[in-house]
Amino acid sequence: MNKTYISTLDQNDPLKTHREKFELPKGVIYLDGNSLGPLPKSVPGRITEVVNEQWGQSLISSWNDHDWITLPARVGSKIGRMIGAEENSVVCADSTSVNLYKLLSASVRLIPERKVILSDTGNFPNDLYVIQGLIQQLGDGYELRLVKPEEISEALTEDIAVAVITEVDYRTGRRHDMTDITAKAKEHGIKVIWDLCHSAGAFPVDLSGSGAELAVGCSYKYLNGGPGAPAFLYVTPELQNDIQPPLSGWMGHTAPFDFDLDYRPAEGISRNLCGTPGVIAMSALDTALDVWQDVDLHQVRQKSQKLFNLFAELIENLGPETDLTLQTTFPEEQRGSQISFAHPQGYAIMQALIDRGVVGDFRAPDILRFGLTPLYLSYADIYRAVEIIADIIQTKSWDQLKYHERGLVT
Ligand SMILES: *Cc1c(COP(=O)(O)O)cnc(C)c1O
Repeated sequence: MNKTYISTLDQNDPLKTHREKFELPKGVIYLDGNSLGPLPKSVPGRITEVVNEQWGQSLISSWNDHDWITLPARVGSKIGRMIGAEENSVVCADSTSVNLYKLLSASVRLIPERKVILSDTGNFPNDLYVIQGLIQQLGDGYELRLVKPEEISEALTEDIAVAVITEVDYRTGRRHDMTDITAKAKEHGIKVIWDLCHSAGAFPVDLSGSGAELAVGCSYKYLNGGPGAPAFLYVTPELQNDIQPPLSGWMGHTAPFDFDLDYRPAEGISRNLCGTPGVIAMSALDTALDVWQDVDLHQVRQKSQKLFNLFAELIENLGPETDLTLQTTFPEEQRGSQISFAHPQGYAIMQALIDRGVVGDFRAPDILRFGLTPLYLSYADIYRAVEIIADIIQTKSWDQLKYHERGLVT
């Protein structure tokens, strides 16, 4: 594997033109787009327009004149097309955590005789916290049942009301089989809420084709919507009018400007809206999503796999002395779009890497995690990143006090 081979890969890359659409700081190889996607160059102009022209000049009439009021539906539809959702079955709103709370509390009410909520130990702990909070609120014998990720399928038994499953494991990159699990869950009358935080924009998701009924996800990772960008939620058309929104705010009312004293949910997906949308943030996301207009997600998937294989092979070629253990050991179809390695000094090594411009992240207890985002990463980036990883480990340059100190965010 030499540099000529690598540059041939880059020259023949059908996605190479998309890198231009992103602001990428010089000297940085950004392998953390699975945590916070970079800034699309088109976004600052949109924010300036929304702030100066729409808010500044048109003031409140912008709700109609600049279509602010339909942003949650319009942005939801753009995301919906990327995740295989039916028309009018995704809205953009709130955060992933809040959307999970909303769909989980509505879905346990659909099956009141069952009291078990299922999830797995590979789930992002935040999602477990949301489940635990709801269970406390419900009281009445509800429980969370946690199994190992590989045991989810056999754990789908008839006492379970709802399963909360994150499709891609944030640490190992393991990907659940959405079609298989959905089919089995339906056989047993179980609702599944899919968390697509590490799926949307990472590879083609086919909610409708896989029979999925409920999903949530965020837009600041692979969708590049900006820090804390508003999230999305999906409900299959057949279920939409069975959902009783627990946060029954006016944006989900059938006629918010009638100012009726009684809550009456809107028909369809929009009943899942609660309060006024954050227009500036949602506008930024709206423009960020346009990056995907002429992108074939199957090509994204293909390149992601090739970046993965290159990364894994280059690390393996360094030999066992690196002490890096591949964690993403699953077959292609069972992987998300990241590569993770365990190392006993993972934290310090990652800090040293970031100092050298190779930005990935660390996940406790010992995981070095690198996001593979084919729109703006080249094969040469991976090659260079591995050279720097090798240098840091071989020279032990990670072993300095400053690389062992932990910040608030890791
Ligand atoms: C990133 C992520 C979240 C984030 O939720 P927020 O409400 O945006 O903080 C939730 N779940 C999973 C699986 C994630 O990866």
